[in-house]
Amino acid sequence: MQIYNLEFSEQEIREAVAAGKLLSMEIEFSRICNFRCSYCYVPDRSECSNELSREEIKDVILQAKALGARKIIILGGEPSIYPHLVEMIRFLGQEGLEIEMFTNGSGIDTDLAAVLAEEKVRVVLKLNSRDEAIQDRLAGKKGAFQMINRALATLQEAGYPSAGRISRNCRQCGSGCGRRR
Ligand code: SF4
Repeated sequence: MQIYNLEFSEQEIREAVAAGKLLSMEIEFSRICNFRCSYCYVPDRSECSNELSREEIKDVILQAKALGARKIIILGGEPSIYPHLVEMIRFLGQEGLEIEMFTNGSGIDTDLAAVLAEEKVRVVLKLNSRDEAIQDRLAGKKGAFQMINRALATLQEAGYPSAGRISRNCRQCGSGCGRRR
């Protein structure tokens, strides 16, 4: 049995494959992260020496759009640590692209939540366990559970969830935040 991404029909996927087109693209603005999840594949969660510049990122996004991509999925690292996240989200919004962002929630404050809601970003918030000790252990960070739940509350105050724009289990490494490899 073939399982397709539910956001795109089988027909759309077949046509895109046949034409060498994209439907969506995943992008990592940076690999820096403040969590140390035991299941994360990123080796040291620090900045790569050759990370793309802002202009290069925008150019890649426009290339993906030209190839048919309708949706951009922001992964990391932790996207909220990237200093130009809001600029990139606004850019994606201006380009009429759907946006999905995987996050550990640590950087989601009122201002960022408002931007995410305004741009209708679908947020995938990392939450591995409802048990605080287990969550902190899995994230490799004391206080992670509290951060994640604060982020959830902040997103709810900004208007989430609406029309399925929030999910609380990300797909990284099968269970965590932000990565699908
Ligand atoms: S799984 Fe996500 S939150 Fe955890 S260390 Fe990796 S990038 Fe950071």
